[in-house]
Amino acid sequence: MLKLIGILGGTFDPVHYGHLRLAVECYERLDLAEVRLIPLYTPPHRHSPHASPGQRLAMLKMAIKDIQGLTIDDCELHRKDVSYTIDTVSAIRGRVGERPVCLLMGMDAFNTLHTWHQWQSILDYTHIVIADRPNNTAEQNTPDLNTLLNTRSVSDVQLLHKTPAGKIHKMIMPILDISATQIRNIISGGMNAKFLLPDEIIEFIHNNNLYKSKT
Ligand code: ATP
Repeated sequence: MLKLIGILGGTFDPVHYGHLRLAVECYERLDLAEVRLIPLYTPPHRHSPHASPGQRLAMLKMAIKDIQGLTIDDCELHRKDVSYTIDTVSAIRGRVGERPVCLLMGMDAFNTLHTWHQWQSILDYTHIVIADRPNNTAEQNTPDLNTLLNTRSVSDVQLLHKTPAGKIHKMIMPILDISATQIRNIISGGMNAKFLLPDEIIEFIHNNNLYKSKT
């Protein structure tokens, strides 16, 4: 069987070291063929991104340049519609055949999974890998998500490599306390976002007058 592929969807408004650390850590620890970063077009549950699709894509390209294992898949930008994860994972499944795929997400994103369009079908197309903080005791899932965790969780990573989809694996990692909202607020407040995201992206944000107004 061909090597496991990781996918990481997000607004990436802007991409930051929290996303990049998650992607690199999963690439190495799960022995992935690659991690495909997938910028969304229109989010189903929140305000539209501040930066344009082209600007978010340009920032992602800068972020992954020279980083082994990270690639970009702009399928959601091409669809130009509300970006439902179910559409993306089913399209990817159509392209990769029986190859195993895992959808990477932080625990914050997993906690909202039961609100996603056709969420119960997502595991038909992909595994889910949840990045969680060490000793996270704050985690509170709904009964639906608890059932999903109880029936689908595996601790052995090898099981993700042996089947195309359907399993959930929790990966404990030291999650960086960084969010795009925090970065947008820092920039709109005229403060310095250095060390939260690559310098080249900070320069791009300033050159393009992004995130000047409060989020
Ligand atoms: P915003 O603040 O605008 O909501 P965000 O920083 O949370 O943005 P998203 O693009 O919404 O970023 O997140 C995409 C994915 O990356 C989600 O699965 C989320 O859990 C994960 N993620 C975001 N920030 C981090 C982080 N600091 N560490 C690990 N995972 C993260």
